Amino acid sequence: MIWSPPAPLRQLARRALWSLAVGVACTLLLSWTVPQALLGFGLAQHTTWSQDAFWIDTTRGGHYQRSTLWCSDWIIMKRIIFTGTPESQPYFRHNIPPAWACTLDLAGLSGFEEVHTGATGWPCRAFASESWRRWTPRPDEEAEALRYNFVLASTPRGRIMFPLRPIWSGLAADVAVFGAGWFAIVVVAGGVRAVVRRARGRCPGCGYDRRGLPDAIAPCPECGLAPR
Ligand SMILES: [Zn+2]
Repeated sequence: MIWSPPAPLRQLARRALWSLAVGVACTLLLSWTVPQALLGFGLAQHTTWSQDAFWIDTTRGGHYQRSTLWCSDWIIMKRIIFTGTPESQPYFRHNIPPAWACTLDLAGLSGFEEVHTGATGWPCRAFASESWRRWTPRPDEEAEALRYNFVLASTPRGRIMFPLRPIWSGLAADVAVFGAGWFAIVVVAGGVRAVVRRARGRCPGCGYDRRGLPDAIAPCPECGLAPR
């Protein structure tokens, strides 16, 4: 005979799997549907920008502005021209941009002057979209390189990007938040249902009517669950 796990364990595994699925679904919805819909239909707009912040590290640096909506972030970082060593700058290692934001190297080896990073997801940003821009003397030259995204729509208010670069920490945090939330709801609802079923003389696990059973402590004939 093949061993099969006891009913409560099977139920726990089923609930955990469902919670994971709900966590993933909510995370994707808030990264890949809601922000694009809000921005696309003009219900939310990146029109309020932070003050220009200067930031420099030993190898990277720039000045950037950030626009934050509840489910979407946008950072525009521009290359910095400075004299002296990075360590001598008053903003050395100050105003550190979020880890998901693209940054520019001080030496300019990337060849880009400006980089825009969009990020979506709630409560943490889970997916990012990149637009790298170089200065070009000729307007017909390709000045922009799009990475980890595709353009969903071009509206009078701007382009709607579909972000494809996973921000793993935010992605995991969002899935955990929604998964744990769903798990808690299911456990509480399941507990309430079991109490109601017991009060009605039914099996707490499957709702089988136990009132006709001769033995009050026998396992449920339907699902095998012990009554207590
Ligand atoms: Zn049962």
